[in-house]
Amino acid sequence: MITDPSGRALDYLRLSLTDRCNLRCVYCMPEEGIGWKPHTEILRFEESLRLCRLLCALGIRRIKLTGGEPLVRRGLENFIRELREIPLLEELTLTTNGLLLADFLDRLGDDARSLLNGVNISLNSPDSANFARIARRDRLEAALAGMRRALAAGLPVKLNCVPLRGFNEQDLAATAMLARNEVRAVRFIELMPLGAASSLEGVPMAEVLAILEREFGALSRDYSRIGNGPAVYYTVPGFAGKIGFISAISEAFCAGCNRLRLGADGRLRACLASEVSADLRSLLRSGAGDDEIKNAVLRLAEIKPAAHKFAGSVVSGGRGEGGVLPEQEYCRIADGMYRIGG
Ligand code: SAM
Ligand code: SF4
Repeated sequence: MITDPSGRALDYLRLSLTDRCNLRCVYCMPEEGIGWKPHTEILRFEESLRLCRLLCALGIRRIKLTGGEPLVRRGLENFIRELREIPLLEELTLTTNGLLLADFLDRLGDDARSLLNGVNISLNSPDSANFARIARRDRLEAALAGMRRALAAGLPVKLNCVPLRGFNEQDLAATAMLARNEVRAVRFIELMPLGAASSLEGVPMAEVLAILEREFGALSRDYSRIGNGPAVYYTVPGFAGKIGFISAISEAFCAGCNRLRLGADGRLRACLASEVSADLRSLLRSGAGDDEIKNAVLRLAEIKPAAHKFAGSVVSGGRGEGGVLPEQEYCRIADGMYRIGG
């Protein structure tokens, strides 16, 4: 088992397969996209597989495929089939913007349910104009088609929405309504000040909750365990699915952090809010043996920060407001989430 100095067991890996994406969400990607990178800088599938096997040998039990947009990576179906061969891996899920999901699930065919334990789909607004303002692409229908296809395949689906001041505040209740029938959960993620997001303002969890309670009546906390992450869930009268909040800024969500993040470039991070990483790609390509790579992972886990130090000012009412930390100690992460994997 991999444990960190705070005693947290790290059994969950977010595996980014690419920095590229077919959307340009204002809080994640630069409008012009990212510069062309030689393929040699990105881990080949066989390299990712070797690292996943080693990480599972160390204690990883759940993997989430992410990016960028993981579905733009060609040959993903075979990679997923090979990942599934790792005996210690208990759960494999995917997070996607949904645009290519319908075709991808067609290619997986009847195996989709045995290969994937669930799918998270980013859906920031069910209003096509507001969706397009955030994604800088008019592709709501494709995302919804992906969601419908995943539901038809019998996959558990969660939707993720980042509430953004001036973009989708007026749509939050309509987004939550998507949890009324088949979707397992609609989760609201507080904006984190990474890359392009640093100049935008998120809507804090308390405000989203108030908006939803005005619309649906009192929400009740649901303490049953759903998923692997830091989301806090609520039930809404008459809804089959739950409403979740991932409050990166206004609530301390680090205490239960169980994750490592492997970037598409082979950099392993122990915290999304830290620039510290282990360059596993260079180790792999220098011919390192399994033990050498495992030791690099364990050394990184030893310095996993106890908590992030995001500036609270990005979400008003946040943890840092009023100066919990001196301003110069807040972290500033230059990379957008497309590079870190969410
Ligand atoms: N492209 C896929 C998607 O959008 O689901 C996977 C990668 S995306 C980087 C993973 C998640 O991170 C998405 O739910 C996205 O909305 C979220 N995200 C990106 N930038 C963020 C930020 N600055 N703060 C909070 N969440 C962010
Ligand atoms: Fe692409 Fe996901 Fe980032 Fe949006 S949040 S730009 S869909 S990687």
